[in-house]
Formats: sequence, C-alpha cells, structure tokens
Amino acid sequence: MSANNIATTNNNLDNIFTHQSCKVFEYASQLKNGGLFFKHDPEVNLFAIIAIHSTALGPALGGCRLINYPNVDAAVEDAVRLARGMSYKAAITGMPLGGGKAVLIKPDKIEDKEKYFKAFAEFVNTLGGKYITAMDSGTSLEEMDIIAKYTPYVASLTVENDMSHGDPSPYTAFGVLEGIHAAAEFKLKKNNLKDLTIAIQGLGHVGHPLATELHKLGAKLIVADTNKEATDYCAQKFNAEVVAPDEIHKVECDIFAPCALGAIINDETIKELNCRIIAGSANNQLKKSIHGEMLHKNGILYATDYVINSGGLIFAESLYNKNNNAEVFNKIKNIKSSLLNIFAESNKQNLPTNLIANQIAEKKLRDHGDKI
Ligand code: NAD
Repeated sequence: MSANNIATTNNNLDNIFTHQSCKVFEYASQLKNGGLFFKHDPEVNLFAIIAIHSTALGPALGGCRLINYPNVDAAVEDAVRLARGMSYKAAITGMPLGGGKAVLIKPDKIEDKEKYFKAFAEFVNTLGGKYITAMDSGTSLEEMDIIAKYTPYVASLTVENDMSHGDPSPYTAFGVLEGIHAAAEFKLKKNNLKDLTIAIQGLGHVGHPLATELHKLGAKLIVADTNKEATDYCAQKFNAEVVAPDEIHKVECDIFAPCALGAIINDETIKELNCRIIAGSANNQLKKSIHGEMLHKNGILYATDYVINSGGLIFAESLYNKNNNAEVFNKIKNIKSSLLNIFAESNKQNLPTNLIANQIAEKKLRDHGDKI
C-alpha cells in the first residue's frame, strides 16, 4: 500500500501523508518471523498497523496504541520496535506468548467510537489469532470492551472475576517495585528503600501507584509530570519535591524511574544523569542500544525496560488464559530474581544489562525456531 496516495478527511492526517514514506519495507524486513499488516478504512478514518515480531512461543500479545505521529514511517517504526520488545519480554519472563503491537494513527476526531474500534477488531480477526490486542497509550478498558464484541483476540477487559479490573497498570507498577528492590539490593547493597531518593518521570497509570508504594516504604520522592494535577497530588500526599519535566533526569538521586516516555536515555540526557540506577516502566527507554553501553561504562545500573515492566503482560496473559490471581503475583515477584540474574551476568561478563537481557531472550526465541 502506498500511504502517500491515501486521501484523508483530517488535516492532521493530510500532513503526515505528505511525508515521503519509503521505509516501510525496511521495517518489514526486520520482522523475519512475523510481518507488517495494514488496514485503512476511510469510512471511520482508521489507519491501523499491526506488527508481529514473533509467534514462536505463542500468539503475539501486545497493546493497541492510539496516538499522534509526525509521519507514517514514525508510526511503523514504533509498531516494529514495540513488537520486538513484546517478543523479548514474553520470552524472558517465560510467557507462552509471541510479540506484536498495534498502532492506530490518531485522527483529529473519531466520529463513531463503536464503528472505529469495530473496524479495528475486524482487522485483528483477519490475522486469525496470531495477534491478541490489549490496552496501551491512548486506549483504555472502554475501547477494549468494544473490541471484544467483535473479536475474541483481546486481553485487558473490564472483567468481573477475582481480578475485578482488567487494567494491567497496577501489576506493571508492582513489577517495577520488585525491580527497584533488585537494583537497590545489587547496586546499593540495601534491602529496603527507606530514605533512598527516587526521581519519577510521569505519574500516570504506572507512575502514580509506584509513587504511592515508594512513599509507603519511606523513599524520598522527586517527581515531574506535564499534568500539574498529578504533581500537586504527590507534593501534597507524599511530600514529593516537584521539578520541571525537562529537569527530572538531571536531579541528584539514587534511582531515576522513567515512567512516561520512550528514548529518554539518549545522547543529550545521558550526559546530564545524576543517578546510580535507572529503573522505571517506560518502554524503549534507551534511544539506541549504544546508550546501554554508555550507562554501563558510567557505572549506572540499568534495569532493562522489558524485564522490569513485564508485570502488565504477565497479568494480561493470565486474564486471557484465565489463570488464577495467586499465580500472577508469584510470577511478577520473579521479576526481582530475573533482574538479579541479569545484573550478576552483566558484572561477570562486563557487558551492559540490555545486551545480557537480549542474549537470554534471543536464545529462548532461537531455541523455539526463530531466526534472530
Ligand atoms: P500514562 O499515559 O498513564 O502516564 C504517562 C504519564 O506521563 C502521564 O501522567 C503524562 O502526563 C506524563 N508525561 C507525558 N509526557 C511527559 C514528560 N515529558 N515529562 C513528564 N511526564 C510526562 O502511561 P502509563 O500507562 O503510566 O505508562 C507509562 C510508561 O510505561 C509508558 O512508556 C508505557 O508504554 C510503559 N508501560 C506501561 C504499562 C502499563 O501496564 N500501563 C506496561 C508496560 C509499559
């Protein structure tokens, strides 16, 4: 499909399609074990991309993102990078899942939500269960509930069982907390978080419950969010120091917890970090793999993103496969030992933690027949 030739009814989408999109096949070639799939439904203004990275270990479960993109290449790149992350996350946590992701390029307005998500659900159906969707940035349980009317291939619904609610975020936050414990134990030789200074970037679905738990455990919090209400709440309730969003990565702290954006560790920010550990929920925290090497050389312990933030996936898989709640918590607790293992190997081999994690995940995928 040539995205450049698509006429749209939205000004913001007209702009993104004027960009010469030429990298789609380059991205597709990165999905040797899966593929890239597109759907355009002009009636509802749906521009959807599904990237499947692997199905070697099971169906590719990954969220459905509905956000703005500057151009089509950026949307495809995001889908491919995120799908790969999901494969590695599932492999390293021992989930019977592959990795995929859906990206919906956000139109100015969705006139009819039901029809829009019905069209997306029908797209998911065309993949015959190879891809299972779930909530992600820009989608919520409400949209998942609509999608579930039209496809069985959806996790994270509003459910009425012992888990009572299908939002994976509190489970992700619980996993991040386990990861923070692992990093503090390994790097700071601390078996509790009392009096540690922890800087949290982003106080949304994951950052907020994480801040709540860290405060209970006696950590001193420094926070930033573009949403003033979120920072005001933390200042009042948790006595947190508030700094500007573009300052949070620079503050002196024991642990920096990125819980907002991807690519936060990049050529510019890496020089300004003043922490000993990076441990947060954001996906794709390293702009490039080389930034993991730079952290390693600078003595900053990096808790690999797709390991520390895997609690939500563990929860979504159990909802989808109807496992019990106790099992979920035990599996999420394993994030601590997985990370301790990665940290120890990183020390032993003098290699960055992101490379050690990749080696473990890639071996599992290769053992199941993937070409990596
Ligand atoms: P969210 O959208 O609920 O929260 C993100 C927060 O970051 C919002 O409060 C937003 O205002 C804030 N923010 C945006 N730009 C910012 C900036 N420049 N500086 C500071 N704050 C900023 O998202 P979430 O569900 O809490 O997820 C947070 C991160 O964790 C994302 O990268 C997401 O991909 C990742 N993640 C989430 C889950 C999950 O279960 N929700 C699972 C795995 C990974």
